[in-house]
Amino acid sequence: MVKLPVAHFLWDNRGRFSRRFGRLPGLTAAETLSMLEYQIIPVTPFQQNCTLLWCSETRRAAAVDPGGDLHLIEQAVRDNGVELEKILLTHGHLDHVGGTVELAGRHRLPIEGPHQDDQFWIDMLPQQAQMMGFAASAAFKPQRWLAQGDIVTVGELVLEVRHCPGHTPGHVVFFHPASKLALVGDVLFQGSIGRTDFPRGDHAALVHAIREQLWPLGDDIAFIPGHGPMSTFGHERRTNPFVADKHYG
Ligand SMILES: [Zn+2]
Ligand SMILES: [Zn+2]
Repeated sequence: MVKLPVAHFLWDNRGRFSRRFGRLPGLTAAETLSMLEYQIIPVTPFQQNCTLLWCSETRRAAAVDPGGDLHLIEQAVRDNGVELEKILLTHGHLDHVGGTVELAGRHRLPIEGPHQDDQFWIDMLPQQAQMMGFAASAAFKPQRWLAQGDIVTVGELVLEVRHCPGHTPGHVVFFHPASKLALVGDVLFQGSIGRTDFPRGDHAALVHAIREQLWPLGDDIAFIPGHGPMSTFGHERRTNPFVADKHYG
């Protein structure tokens, strides 16, 4: 068997990864040439980080957490010359899913995620909208609920699903090993972690999920949080006041 060189990635500030040579062990043949590219699009008054991510080979894209401001998401689709293939959801909070029904309807997109334990949040979307002063948002049922260890695809990209309850019971995280990139929703932020004072929030479960599901992915993993700037797991392990290693002996 031919031993292939390990790929090297360059990562510029528009979020483009470029592979310089070779392939990573574990990539499927179909994935060999595809790279993950993305654009972060803050949406809603909560400036939620909707992420348009796509496969460089097929230019097929997923809208992750389309909370609202669909015109901005559709503009990014046009700007990057990609075609929407599906909607991926991290959890059922309005600022993350509020634009889902409308975007899915306009472009005939399937909805994947979150975990079924967030069904009650999605069922409460009309009440969430009223509480937060958002435009009315209808409840919906995703075509596919996600669970720990599931795989989701975008074009030829393959992302892993981690179930990280605590902020909400059905929160999931998407991880693309080849790009060393995770989309973590409201689980973890630069310098903070998700709120747990909502119905069925669980602080201990959230800390456990971060330490057992995210840290093992590696200190060099960059992550896109649901709000605010990107960071890496290593940086948070050193400095995050809620989950830094020094607080856990
Ligand atoms: Zn949330
Ligand atoms: Zn949020």
